[in-house]
Amino acid sequence: MKIAKVIVDVPLMQTDKAFSYAVGQEFSELIEPGMRVHLPFGTGNRLVQGIVVEVLEQSEQLENLKTIAELLDPEPVLTPEQLWLADEMRHSVFSYKISCLKAMLPNLLNSNYDKLLRASDGSSSKWSELTEAQKIASAKAVRAGEISIEYLAKSKENRKIEKYLSVPDLDKLAQFEIEKRAKKRLELKYFLLRLNQEKIALKTLDFSTQIIKFFVEHDLVKIEEVEISRTKEKFAAIQSDQAKQLNAEQTQAFEKIIHNPERTFLLEGITGSGKTEVYLQTIDHFLKKGQTAIMLVPEISLTPQITNRFIARFGDKVAIMHSGLSDGEKYDEWRKIKSGQAQVVVGARSAIFAPVENLGIIIIDEEHESSYKQDSSPRYHARDIALLRAKWHGAALLLGSATPSLESRARAMRGVYDLLLLTKRANEAAILPEIQVVDMRQEISDQSTNFSQTLLQKIKEKIEKNEQIILMLNRRGYSSFVMCRECGFVVDCPNCDISLTLHMDTRTLNCHYCGHVQGIPQTCPNCQSRKIRYYGSGTQKVEEELHKILPEARVLRMDVDTTRTKNAHEKILDKFGKHEADILLGTQMIAKGLDFPNVTLVGVINADTGLNLPDFRASERAFELLMQVAGRAGRADKKGEVIIQTFNPNHYAIQLTKAQDYEKFYEKEMAFRKELSYPPYYFTVQVLISHQNEEIVIQKAYEIAQLLRQNLTTKAKILGPTARPIARTHNLFHYQILVKYRFEEQLENALNQVLELTQQRENKNLRVLIDSEPQNFV
Ligand code: ADP
Ligand code: ZN
Ligand code: ZN
Repeated sequence: MKIAKVIVDVPLMQTDKAFSYAVGQEFSELIEPGMRVHLPFGTGNRLVQGIVVEVLEQSEQLENLKTIAELLDPEPVLTPEQLWLADEMRHSVFSYKISCLKAMLPNLLNSNYDKLLRASDGSSSKWSELTEAQKIASAKAVRAGEISIEYLAKSKENRKIEKYLSVPDLDKLAQFEIEKRAKKRLELKYFLLRLNQEKIALKTLDFSTQIIKFFVEHDLVKIEEVEISRTKEKFAAIQSDQAKQLNAEQTQAFEKIIHNPERTFLLEGITGSGKTEVYLQTIDHFLKKGQTAIMLVPEISLTPQITNRFIARFGDKVAIMHSGLSDGEKYDEWRKIKSGQAQVVVGARSAIFAPVENLGIIIIDEEHESSYKQDSSPRYHARDIALLRAKWHGAALLLGSATPSLESRARAMRGVYDLLLLTKRANEAAILPEIQVVDMRQEISDQSTNFSQTLLQKIKEKIEKNEQIILMLNRRGYSSFVMCRECGFVVDCPNCDISLTLHMDTRTLNCHYCGHVQGIPQTCPNCQSRKIRYYGSGTQKVEEELHKILPEARVLRMDVDTTRTKNAHEKILDKFGKHEADILLGTQMIAKGLDFPNVTLVGVINADTGLNLPDFRASERAFELLMQVAGRAGRADKKGEVIIQTFNPNHYAIQLTKAQDYEKFYEKEMAFRKELSYPPYYFTVQVLISHQNEEIVIQKAYEIAQLLRQNLTTKAKILGPTARPIARTHNLFHYQILVKYRFEEQLENALNQVLELTQQRENKNLRVLIDSEPQNFV
């Protein structure tokens, strides 16, 4: 008899270990690690989903074992590597193993969708409607490649089938007599004979279905259903491109990587220095050796330009994975990878789990971006997963950035990573832009304007020369809200300690934490005054102001409000690329990866927001962002200029952006981190404690801090407990403890003890989250 070890999808501590289940005779030939199953769990009759992690042969009959109710997959959906990865990552993310495993599967497979099995002759059947014997036969056929699987999502959107027509036997067709009267049939006959067995899409044929039916009924033609990848049309629209001759620095970087394929590299190159070209050519090198590649980019839906460069170079070999895709599209891409059809995966954070085999290289572009850390469970950092996968495959790992995170740069300085430098712009005519800092305290006497004379003057000048402008409004830690001018009352979420955000497109107030939505009040709920004012998004206000001052300028706005619909980013950028607008005005989302040769001016409207946030990375983030957006100017042969407006012109993050001096910034920031014992000198782990009752949460937070102090050495620095900056959300009160440490052998053990507290009956409603290397403190 066979026994399956299964991780069940039930969020309980004890479920982190695999449970043993008996495998019925009907499944015993089929079952393999990495398959999903349905099984009875707990006392009720309810079936839960689980993932098989091991299959054992058991000679004697075991009593009391429950039996697997159903096998959900004809073949494993998780690879042995992924099962190993879940075990490894669990130690650093403090999440349930099941949530690690689920992070590796496309959404469609984490919900209960039925499957359609499609045979090569076009016939299909639903998995749930098959008998056990048929299931077994089908599963074998799937593995032999005779049947393909398709998951049925709720919507039709899940599949796109195109019908193709072909002629199985040309001679038969040639000899088949058609009456002279039936002109259309004759036409089709000779049309098909001329096609010479080539397949043709039914929808392109100019013959009625009646005529085609006649040919089908006489076995003269065959209709075949072919599944169309939903991204195919997009791919077809992109022009292919050729590798460029690498310059000396690029060549040196390229050579080092390909000759040391098991190392980790930090490619530090100024904006426009040709990092992407190095990525493209290294990937090409590994592809030629028959290997595969993963290319991570931050928030890919914001930067269609970069994805397009990979499609242009590698065409159909590319699979795209990001949050902007529907579940069906994600699944398509996942399958393209799993079947080996795609060898280059380009995607955002979660693409690090893509089921590629024989991995040659993993590249993480803009490695300093905080979006590589997931801020819900499992709280993994893509870089850590990349290190694990690179180890498993003996693959190279390449981290790229113009402004590396201090953590990565420090590792490169210690020789843990190999540092590769690109110091010049790749396009010889392009030189780094000139940066001017405008002191807004001097420039504007009137607080109601967002523009200094200096910036306005420059904008006009550029428009006259027919050049383009990017304007950024930094919105980190800043959102639109509604306030009463009479009494200062701000409309807060009833469940959370935070003001509601104004959404102008839907004219509602929304809570970004719990999802609460309400209308905009006409009068102040506190004092009934009518002087309720919108403190609108900044971008919208700036746009209005621009229209007033420069009515002739054509402005495109890119922010959360204008990009809610699918492909909205792409459309805006496309218009701007075609010079249908002079100014692209946006939030941080325009700072990333854009490459528009005609942009010669970048204006930062407010460099200050974000600088003073209570987060030790505030300066690092501000510096990265300013350097990144500055890099959008003058990328081709026209010289670029950058104007930074600020009320803190002497802040080092701003001064060093002006000097475009990453090296100095690194030194200065490292000194500060050392003095205050922050990363990269110390590791950090944050414990978040939540409960509906404020008194209980305080009591438990102190209990947990005590537990940590008892278990860790005196070298660990334990800060807190303190109330979170946003002390209440979802009707829960939150407290936090921050542990800073270097080497703590007992850390994992101590944190597990903390998690175990939540399993005690008396702590049923206590929530404890552990976040290793937290990225956002506000
Ligand atoms: P980065 O990724 O560092 O910002 P890119 O790879 O986007 O830089 O390169 C900037 C510009 O220079 C792009 O337009 C790119 O096509 C061009 N470029 C890159 N490498 C070369 C090269 N070796 N020769 C000519 N042009 C290059
Ligand atoms: Zn809320
Ligand atoms: Zn009021």
